[in-house]
Amino acid sequence: MSTTIARDAVTTFSLSAIEQLSGLNKLIDPDVLQAINRPKRVIVVDIPLRLDSGKFVTFQGYRVQHNDARGPFKGGLRYHPDVDMDEARTLAHLMTLKTAVVNIPFGGGKGGIACDPKQLSQRELERLTRNFTNLLGENIGPRIDIPAPDVNTNSQVMAWIVDEYSKTHGQSWGVVTGKPLEIGGSLGRDEATGRGVMYAVREAVREKNLDLSKCRVIFQGFGNVASYGARLIEQELGAKVIGLSTSQGAIYSPRGFDLLSAEAHYRQTRGLKGFADVAWMTNEELLEQECDILIPAALGNAITVNNAKNVKAQIVVEGANDCTDAAADEILAKRGVFVVPDILANAGGVIVSYFEWVQNLNNHYWSVDEVRTELERIMVAAYSQVSAVAKERQLTMREASYIVAIERVAKAMILRGY
Ligand code: GLU
Repeated sequence: MSTTIARDAVTTFSLSAIEQLSGLNKLIDPDVLQAINRPKRVIVVDIPLRLDSGKFVTFQGYRVQHNDARGPFKGGLRYHPDVDMDEARTLAHLMTLKTAVVNIPFGGGKGGIACDPKQLSQRELERLTRNFTNLLGENIGPRIDIPAPDVNTNSQVMAWIVDEYSKTHGQSWGVVTGKPLEIGGSLGRDEATGRGVMYAVREAVREKNLDLSKCRVIFQGFGNVASYGARLIEQELGAKVIGLSTSQGAIYSPRGFDLLSAEAHYRQTRGLKGFADVAWMTNEELLEQECDILIPAALGNAITVNNAKNVKAQIVVEGANDCTDAAADEILAKRGVFVVPDILANAGGVIVSYFEWVQNLNNHYWSVDEVRTELERIMVAAYSQVSAVAKERQLTMREASYIVAIERVAKAMILRGY
């Protein structure tokens, strides 16, 4: 229940943000603003699955197509027991804002299956994914809606979707992004969100006049975003990672630890518990430890009213979507904590998804250096636009990023005659 309240609060915040902030309602027709807050299409399907045991079960699948004024719907599919309509709506809404704030030609969508993939075999997961793809039918496609990996989905899941979709549509690499390299994936897509987070950290540290080489960084999480992000922040920025976590718990040491050994420990034991010379604690405790930069990069709703007052970091960079609820955001702002919001900080993934889609449509593939250079260019441009609006209008980075994004979506809607 608490997640529902927090998620509503985020959506409510975006609503009140557009109504109150900086007279945006005077610049843009309030009817358009209202329309931006509603999803265009909501798809709910019952997905049948024959388990390996022969038993028959059904799972609920969702796809929320929030807005496509600026281009096809775009956003991930997650497989998680908490997936529901409410979550998909919020995350689809955030995708509309995310693609707009970084100015790539997509709208926003999100979806997934309410399931625990850890309880399913690979073959069950494959059948479930193929059945879901069939049920989505004509609602997805390279010019309609382009899913991608998200929590608990990966390039293999995308490969099954491409294969299933291509059976009825001919070879269609562009129907999903985040595919394996062998079948239309892009170099640099795996690391993209973590790399984008690294650029966001670098820009924020520059803006706050901190010394990168002295910055101590805590990542909540150790999945795709945190594992690449942590490595890049140490290797390319020279900052020090001093905390990491999995769903089981967290490791923390104020002096830091050897990241490569932590990675090796994680690979060997499938966790971080038992790693030498660090404190073992809960995920909640980790968020409240001493550090300069905190990067929630696990699931949503990490920073809430209960812990926002105890966050020690000067800078929070949101690696995970919807990880700070609206009330906590207000507390952080009052306390002077500088927050780089999710729609900006973790946009690296969808930016390289955009490159992947471009490469698929052109059948011409880029080098990893080209991908990284373009990603950096787009991230830095978006960051500086948002930061300029924040300074000019005395807003937080979240408010400013909403303003930049909503103005773009609204203009597209008006031009097209929504
Ligand atoms: N799931 C990622 C996100 O939330 C990537 C979406 C995409 O590449 O379409 O941004």
